[in-house]
Amino acid sequence: MRIEWGKAHLHFRVRLINPTFERSTVASKRQNPKTIQNFHCKASSFESKKMSHSSATGRRKCRQKKEEEEEEPLGGGGDMEDLFSEKETQNIRMSLLDWYDENQRDLPWRKTRSSETEKETRAYEVWVSEIMLQQTRVQTVMEYYKRWMHKWPTIYDLTQASLEEVNEMWAGLGYYRRARFLLEMVVAEKEGFPNKASSLMKVKGIGEYTAGAIASIAFNEAVPVVDGNVIRVLARLKAISANPKDRLTVKNFWKLAAQLVDPSRPGDFNQSLMELGATLCSVTKPSCSSCPISSQCRAYSLFQENRTLPVTEYPTKVVKSKPRLDFCCVCVLEILRHENNQSGGRFVLIKRPEEGLLAGLWEFPSVILDKEASLAARRKAINLYLKEAFHLEPKETCTIVSRKELGEFVHVFTHIRRKIYVELLVVQLTEGGTIDLFKDEGKDTLTWKCVDNDVLSSMGLTSAVRKVYSMVEAHKQDLSVLSNRTTISRKRRIT
Ligand code: SF4
Repeated sequence: MRIEWGKAHLHFRVRLINPTFERSTVASKRQNPKTIQNFHCKASSFESKKMSHSSATGRRKCRQKKEEEEEEPLGGGGDMEDLFSEKETQNIRMSLLDWYDENQRDLPWRKTRSSETEKETRAYEVWVSEIMLQQTRVQTVMEYYKRWMHKWPTIYDLTQASLEEVNEMWAGLGYYRRARFLLEMVVAEKEGFPNKASSLMKVKGIGEYTAGAIASIAFNEAVPVVDGNVIRVLARLKAISANPKDRLTVKNFWKLAAQLVDPSRPGDFNQSLMELGATLCSVTKPSCSSCPISSQCRAYSLFQENRTLPVTEYPTKVVKSKPRLDFCCVCVLEILRHENNQSGGRFVLIKRPEEGLLAGLWEFPSVILDKEASLAARRKAINLYLKEAFHLEPKETCTIVSRKELGEFVHVFTHIRRKIYVELLVVQLTEGGTIDLFKDEGKDTLTWKCVDNDVLSSMGLTSAVRKVYSMVEAHKQDLSVLSNRTTISRKRRIT
């Protein structure tokens, strides 16, 4: 097999031992020291419209439910405050909706759509925006969202997209599995958008929160949503000091949210609760004096009685488990087309496995190490990898034109803190190397391609890969400045 440099990029499959690995982590839990009152259950379901606070049946179910919950070996969830009274519920609904009508931020995914066909479009818009909002801040999402909607304005346009295109559009948002799920759902749901929270939750990648958001905002179903902002507002409203990460506590937050959701305007109500958490009821600097529901807020009232107990004490801060530390040597492999190549060669990119961290995304050849290693050890690991993957061996199949350490940086994933060492290896293939490079031997299959500078610059790459590539570009820039200076001084010497 021969390399055809004239093509934009080449795809080949070779066999290789996958050099990366992942470990699962267990989040540590902390018992909350500030127990206030026991949680008194008054409802048996998350669905507020089905609640019957007064009936004997409801109370019986409730007692039974509470007993079931108390049997759960979770700890920390038992100090939830009781539900809201009917009067509190009405006041909160009315105040929040009035405030939201006046103060909601103008966001591109907030559009009113009422006809049945428009509802599906709305569901699509909410779905894309919610999945994106789970990744990053509103400000960043706005740009991504506009670009996404420009390319795929409807769910039917998205059905035409390839996973590659979706990944590229998603590049930089992180948690790439979510982008894949978006596409998988479009392909799976040929019937159109599910319009109930219960059916939405059957779709891969849609959890209780996203299902609640889509069903309430797009289809007007009176179901709650609970995200970090909602938990903060509810924890402060009821001065709940239970560990907000405990499963039982989270369940109880869902009950409170379900009780509050306004049956006539569920979508707006849910958005108002999230909006309050994202704006006035912020993590560190809540603006209680401007808050529309301050008169119902127990944390605020406790603060007024005792100034040493700020509202920011709620919800309880949970100590995050330390991310695992690992080390990664990245080798940017540039293959020159011919001797003294000035315009640059092609870069080798490898597709990650379809499961696990950054599934299906492109990256430079790399090896994960479980401990810090010297330069010599890192090079040894990379050499072995390149030999196994591409039969790339100096003097045998290639000539090393240059090899340069470009530096290191730390990249943080949700559960991994990865120190990344970057080197640029420029090679020229020898006669035999051209053929041997694509020998199909090894253990696992690996997909890879060679791309030139222009293709690489326009590809949607993960932020870590993009950072590696900018180090390469900066290095090449330095080399070119240096070479220009040398040429000028040579000319001066001649004249
Ligand atoms: S009064 Fe303050 S703490 Fe309470 S909900 Fe409003 S902003 Fe949050």
